[in-house]
Amino acid sequence: MGKDTYLILGYGRSGKESERHLLSQGRNVIIYDDSLSEKPQINWGQIKVVVQSPGIASCHPIAIAARNAEIPICTDINLLQKRNFGAKYIGITGTNGKSTTTALIGHILKQCGAKVAVGGNIGTPSLALEELGASGWYVLELSSYQLELSENINLDIAVWLNITPDHLERHLTMESYVAAKERIFNQAKYACIAVDDNYSRAVEANLSIPHQTIASEFKNCPANLWIDASGMLHVNGQLFDLKELNTLKGVHNWQNVALAFAAALQIIADSKKIWQSIQSFPGLPHRQQLVVKTPSIEFINDSKATNADACEKALKTFIDKKIFWIVGGKAKTDGIENLHTYFPHIKKAYLIGDSKDRFAKDLCGKLDFEKVVTLEAAVSCAYNDAKSEENAVVLLSPACASFDQFRDYEHRGNEFIKFVKELLHDSNYIFTA
Ligand code: ADP
Repeated sequence: MGKDTYLILGYGRSGKESERHLLSQGRNVIIYDDSLSEKPQINWGQIKVVVQSPGIASCHPIAIAARNAEIPICTDINLLQKRNFGAKYIGITGTNGKSTTTALIGHILKQCGAKVAVGGNIGTPSLALEELGASGWYVLELSSYQLELSENINLDIAVWLNITPDHLERHLTMESYVAAKERIFNQAKYACIAVDDNYSRAVEANLSIPHQTIASEFKNCPANLWIDASGMLHVNGQLFDLKELNTLKGVHNWQNVALAFAAALQIIADSKKIWQSIQSFPGLPHRQQLVVKTPSIEFINDSKATNADACEKALKTFIDKKIFWIVGGKAKTDGIENLHTYFPHIKKAYLIGDSKDRFAKDLCGKLDFEKVVTLEAAVSCAYNDAKSEENAVVLLSPACASFDQFRDYEHRGNEFIKFVKELLHDSNYIFTA
């Protein structure tokens, strides 16, 4: 018997789509997942390829066994590129802003009349995306996990946003985290790269493919597209006022806009059209999302802020308000100590989840806080405290992963919205989430 079987390692959403796709192609498929009670007998002599889910680490025993048996490993992105050979691909990576930038690029291209499908890490698994044919554009969010596993992703445009410490529990060192992400350029034809942090500048210095640089932190560094201190985006001599964008507030979002603009310019020549499309972007849920606004309190769902860097962006956005901060969950290695410059602006913190004791130690003597444990209690306590204040914000920006109490950040954000709605159910306020 020859090597004719695909082994799918990890049976989550992308694994299930890979199975469906491979079976539709008449392939033999076996599935391995730690959570399945029945484990298949693996005869490595028959395995042609291992399709590894991004959620499975390279140190998984089956992944190690596959490498020892010299079996090629790929991801669903590779299968998509085989299925849709000839289509065009844009890949987006970075520590923060991937989903926003991916959705924004997809939105711009759609508004400008292109045939587009948006997926990857952002939600729809790549193999669930429709078949677009040669004139279509796939816009794919690529995590470091996906890039680490994918030997050769062919991108027409690779988009690089930023690098700050994250996912070190899996990549162990910053060097290997950056190296995993850098693989986005391996087979790319062109790159748009932001040069706002030291890691990204070092990556750009080594980049050998044609590319343009984007600077969005007001630093006077030479870049093809850049943002000045008054929030104007400079694109080939034209100026666009980023302060006009209601659904993309804050310098961090301006970085996303600048990158999306740069990528779109490679496809659409008319920069005014690109700008109009950006203006109509509806924004993504769970990212500084306004849930409801009472005369004195805004309730903001920033559940997607799963690390301190992302959370910092929200604290910065609301720095002029009285912040009632719901924080905690499964802590990342960097914790919340880096956020101390914002502590004077925070009226009170409500600590939830596994990290409550660690964060209580970090905040002790620096900030008024309460260990409330659950999100429901946090919403209710924060509302009670904020009620008597003017210009307040009840902000869920956890700076932590959600897995200790929730399925994922979306579940956490939706629960927050639900608790806020329950709390204000007697009111006539208009909910925007
Ligand atoms: P990702 O998909 O990379 O996690 P998202 O677009 O979902 O990024 O945004 C996640 C969080 O990161 C949001 O809460 C937001 O406040 C913050 N964020 C968004 N864009 C940026 C950026 N360019 N730089 C830093 N933080 C950002």
